[in-house]
Amino acid sequence: MSTPPLASGPQGPDALRPLLDTVLDALREGGRARGGPLPAGGPAAVAERVADAVGDVLPDDGDPDALRTLVTALAEGAADPADPLCAAHLHCPPLAVATAADLAASALNPSLDSWDQAPSAAALEALVTRTLARTIGLSDALVTTGGTESNQLALLLAREASGGGVRLVCGANAHHSLPRAAWLLGLPDPVVVPAPNGTLDPAALHDALTHLPRPLLVAATAGTTDAGLIDPLPEIAGLCAAHGARLHIDAAYGGGLAFSDRHREKLAGLERAHSVTLDLHKLGWQPAAAGLLAVARPAEFGALHQHADYLNADDDTEAGYPDLLGRSLRTTRRPDILKIAVTLKTLGRSGLGALVDQVCARAREFAALVREHPGFELWDRPDISTVLFRPTGATDDDVAGVRRGLLHEGRAVLGRARLDGRLWLKVTLLNPHTRPDELAVLLKLVEGTTPR
Ligand SMILES: *Cc1c(COP(=O)(O)O)cnc(C)c1O
Repeated sequence: MSTPPLASGPQGPDALRPLLDTVLDALREGGRARGGPLPAGGPAAVAERVADAVGDVLPDDGDPDALRTLVTALAEGAADPADPLCAAHLHCPPLAVATAADLAASALNPSLDSWDQAPSAAALEALVTRTLARTIGLSDALVTTGGTESNQLALLLAREASGGGVRLVCGANAHHSLPRAAWLLGLPDPVVVPAPNGTLDPAALHDALTHLPRPLLVAATAGTTDAGLIDPLPEIAGLCAAHGARLHIDAAYGGGLAFSDRHREKLAGLERAHSVTLDLHKLGWQPAAAGLLAVARPAEFGALHQHADYLNADDDTEAGYPDLLGRSLRTTRRPDILKIAVTLKTLGRSGLGALVDQVCARAREFAALVREHPGFELWDRPDISTVLFRPTGATDDDVAGVRRGLLHEGRAVLGRARLDGRLWLKVTLLNPHTRPDELAVLLKLVEGTTPR
């Protein structure tokens, strides 16, 4: 085999073009072979089909058809978030324009650990992070791999700003990555405040803040993963201010509401946080990863400063070369900002807001279908785009069985959530192309699978 072509450089585009045709054909072929939201047959059958398709993973001699073979196998065995019946998780179908931009990021391969590896990407990132932070009333933001890394950075910045030993106070509804970050950073065990109806109880928070020694970091949630509920942010911000506690808001899910004129108001109070987690691979329709941590005081990023002579020598920095190493805990770092920037500019705030409005409207319509159906119980009206429901009179085992039955047959991907001590089916609507009649089909499918 001759030396394989490269993606960048003068020959890059010509080398890529036929390969892209291969990829697009394979995506179509794999998707057609799957014929639904998920491959049928469960984990063992999928693993066997993948093993059969791949054959020898590292053959002695290369296989020129590997691209077609592997992309087809991956597509055939994928859970496709663009299928209206794939609605379990905060797993969005990415916008075509964002995915196309991501191809350019892969081809150019800038690495954001030093300016000389990413001159324009560094400049673009500085512009876009500031704009996004200001959109939610904060000052600047760092790019992360998602909510998990953002939450961890938020705890780290709180620890450093408080001189160490900050204690996390979070709701029982908080994302698991928050207590995990406290563990990772060697902080004291978090104080968990009850969240009786799925949102943090302010009276219980008041109690905790009255009795606990400082320094404290309160973490509230704008869009819980299980139910898409928003904690009472203004009240929580007021309590934090009164008690001298720092406030972090995990808006990994709900942050996207900021693009919508209709729904933005639900985020009131976000601008009073010290830090906010955003995740544009949820309500932002980006291919993963597209996380951000926005902060009110960018000077706090100084805690992340790191010196490595080959990346940010003092004399280079003094000569005006941006020091990028302190903008992440990672070293080599992809320009995830490109797909985000392309999306923001292509759709504009109104275009993104319209997508948000559509998925929220679909959720309300699905909730109405559930409520009107005597065979189902609705948990509550959706705040964002998550609907929890269960067959009337079903046991938790029935609920779990319905979900796994649909997964096994590859007919629908529904989530599950435990609330009020009971197991619920969860539908997270992130596909702006989903039609109301497709939601009716989904409910019928669940009805047909429910034991009686
Ligand atoms: C999804 C989610 C996270 C984790 O984000 P990742 O991007 O998966 O790391 C954190 N918090 C909330 C509320 C989430 O919904």
